[in-house]
Amino acid sequence: MRNIKLKNLEICTLGSHCSLQVLKGAKDENFSTCLICEKKRYDLYKRYSFIDRILLVDSFEQMLEKPFQQRIKKLNCIFIPHGTLISSFSPDDIEKIDVPFFGNRYILRWEADRILKEKLMVAAKLNVPRAIRDKNDIDRLCIVKLHGAAGGRGYFTVWDRNSFDEGIKKLINLGSISSEKDVYIQEYVHGVPVFLHYFYSPLCNEVEFMGADRRYESDVDGIARIPSKQQLNVNIEPTYNVIGNIPLVLRESLLEEVYKMGEKFVRAAKKLVPPGIPGPFCLEGVYTKDGTFITFEFSARIVAGTNLYVNGSPYSEMLFGKEMSMGRRIATEIRITNSNNQLNKILT
Ligand code: ADP
Repeated sequence: MRNIKLKNLEICTLGSHCSLQVLKGAKDENFSTCLICEKKRYDLYKRYSFIDRILLVDSFEQMLEKPFQQRIKKLNCIFIPHGTLISSFSPDDIEKIDVPFFGNRYILRWEADRILKEKLMVAAKLNVPRAIRDKNDIDRLCIVKLHGAAGGRGYFTVWDRNSFDEGIKKLINLGSISSEKDVYIQEYVHGVPVFLHYFYSPLCNEVEFMGADRRYESDVDGIARIPSKQQLNVNIEPTYNVIGNIPLVLRESLLEEVYKMGEKFVRAAKKLVPPGIPGPFCLEGVYTKDGTFITFEFSARIVAGTNLYVNGSPYSEMLFGKEMSMGRRIATEIRITNSNNQLNKILT
């Protein structure tokens, strides 16, 4: 277990992604809160009174500097990882940061690397889209993705080798990738995309389904606003850049399977990447027309879609009977494990 004092814990995160929700939840559970904030964003974050301490940095890169890490440790902080950490740093760097992390920092490598990601989803026996390793095998609509948590930026659809080569050329010219080896090709699943938010508590060995969202992505979600004939004229090539999130409730008959998928994922994570997945995670996929969920992705930490539910979601309300955001759920887990001397179960 990492060396951490049990009194006066402070909850800390990077100023981006879901930091407001995380720190609001921590404050609701009476923790002190600390934000690592890039100077350019200070004017935004200074507005929020639940942020007790702001550590200003020129860029998040500073998190990798030893003196900065020592400063965070001295403050007795528990660091909450989110998508910006994954998009800002390599898995090697993340593993080296000498500050106690909430959750399993080693599983973040499995999120960032699409091959490892696929391995974990297959091990969990989730339905997954076909992965295409050789561009010559593209024989249907596929989606081409970058590694890491790119938030859909730069993704494009292809239907044969030529369209793939064309798209790759554009990404190389834009400087987004250096070669076609930097992408992952996956069968495009038809249906509706849904993001399922879970929390796993190792204390009671329970998976909690906390909520769901759909993403609002530019410009793919704008295409339907243009008549189809004109879509052809302007030759639109949609991309999947996340702009925001839209709340969603599921048909109640789908919930049983939602729980089963979450439990399968937790079991596989424990086996492949000890200590598994304490804390929040998200299964991301498409419900097909027969109501089957095909998981195209997971996030092994809190997702920004949970920002919708600062006051709790319909599902968290039914589980907890009080306003329970994902940020607050994290803080609750820290509070309880700390009082039971079991922080080692939730920190790495
Ligand atoms: P990121 O990991 O960067 O957040 P995702 O893998 O979640 O990106 O994909 C971004 C978006 O691309 C999704 O919200 C969804 O709209 C679309 N998408 C991803 N994979 C598929 C797929 N296999 N079939 C259909 N749509 C997909």
